[in-house]
Amino acid sequence: MYRLGIDLGGTKIECVILDPDGRVLVRKRVQTESEKGVTHILGNIKKIIDQVTDGVHSSFSIGIGTPGSISVKTGLLRNSNTQCLNGQPLKDLLRDELKQDVHVENDANCFALAEATYGAGRDYRVVLGVILGTGCGAGIVLDRKIYAGNNKIAGEFGHHTVSFENGRLCWCGRTGCVETYVSGSGIEAQYLRKTGNRDSAKNILSSSCKEANNLKREFYEVLGISLGNVCNILDPEIIVMGGGLSNHGPLYTVVRKQIKKHTFSDTFKTGLVKNRLGDSAGVIGAAMLPACS
Ligand SMILES: [Zn+2]
Repeated sequence: MYRLGIDLGGTKIECVILDPDGRVLVRKRVQTESEKGVTHILGNIKKIIDQVTDGVHSSFSIGIGTPGSISVKTGLLRNSNTQCLNGQPLKDLLRDELKQDVHVENDANCFALAEATYGAGRDYRVVLGVILGTGCGAGIVLDRKIYAGNNKIAGEFGHHTVSFENGRLCWCGRTGCVETYVSGSGIEAQYLRKTGNRDSAKNILSSSCKEANNLKREFYEVLGISLGNVCNILDPEIIVMGGGLSNHGPLYTVVRKQIKKHTFSDTFKTGLVKNRLGDSAGVIGAAMLPACS
């Protein structure tokens, strides 16, 4: 069976079709145009699917990756950065629009699934995929299946607390969340508070001014402590890094040492590596959802 995947982002919608061997047959991107509202976004998804499946005569499954998650209690989407989709029964709306069942999953889980199957984690049974981009998220894949958890929050790495006193306020309402220290938006916000200047996290991490150095030190340390926490509980075989900040080289040397320091063991053989599928991981993972979640 052919597998169709959609990566529903705040600014773009990407769509692929995978053949039964996991090869990408077709790929297309359109703008999300989220400012035009829910109905318009659903219409854009329908349109891109019609375009990529034109000429495909066999049936296909549909998986969709999106920021946020569907509440177990209400069935409504929550915590998406596409604000108009929050509080919407996204899965039902998509089923009505597309006239077939769809699988919907958090985008970090899709990233982890793709990397665990075709990417840097493909030789391992227990894979943690971490995205450090504008925000910070993670997914856990066990034997090539997403482990979503009892409350569907497994892998919500960005919102575990690492600072109890004077912890920074997070958009989720709590203080001291990892995301406020190691995500692009967290680093940029702190740089602005300290210097009064706006700059990108990428520039800040490659700068050597005093405040950038302080933030870098904090970035390495908090990431080391927080990934060490995860290792002490999950003890994955490999950690695959994704998102814009995964290109920052010292992650794989300096942060690895920090993780080791905070792990309750005298050995630390867990790999900490960069993703192999690049920007495509999310949409490929989405296409795999119906078979792997
Ligand atoms: Zn938070």
